Amino acid sequence: MRAGVTARDRDKALKWIKRCLREITLKHYELPADYAAARADIIVTLKRSGHRSSACAKGITIDLTPLQRGASSLLEYPAFAKDPVIGSRQPLTPELVLAGTIAHEVSHFVQYRYGPDTRWLSQTYRKPHGEGFQDIYRILRARVVNPHFC
Ligand SMILES: [Zn+2]
Repeated sequence: MRAGVTARDRDKALKWIKRCLREITLKHYELPADYAAARADIIVTLKRSGHRSSACAKGITIDLTPLQRGASSLLEYPAFAKDPVIGSRQPLTPELVLAGTIAHEVSHFVQYRYGPDTRWLSQTYRKPHGEGFQDIYRILRARVVNPHFC
């Protein structure tokens, strides 16, 4: 945890990371990792630098600046920004913007870490915002994040 990240913001971020991992490691998604394994695999870096959030096969880096500044817009990648499930959304509470960002970055982690060894992802996981990524993100938005939108 980097300087400038409060325990309260850290707990909020960890709550959504856990919710995402709990969902995507359910048995019927057939990932080669259960919840405990995924929690052990993912390296979480929380920061307040204004750089973008990011992810790779080792873990995710979440920029908490939008949360701290009261962001109200979840801005998605142009290719699917207009998608009713995985697209951009506003207005949202800052926590739900964070939740969407976390679901997006966890999806990247899952795609790169488990995609090669997951039957329904092995042919589609490679492209950064491609079909495999969108399939994962659709699950996390529909089942973890979007139900909290009002
Ligand atoms: Zn992305």
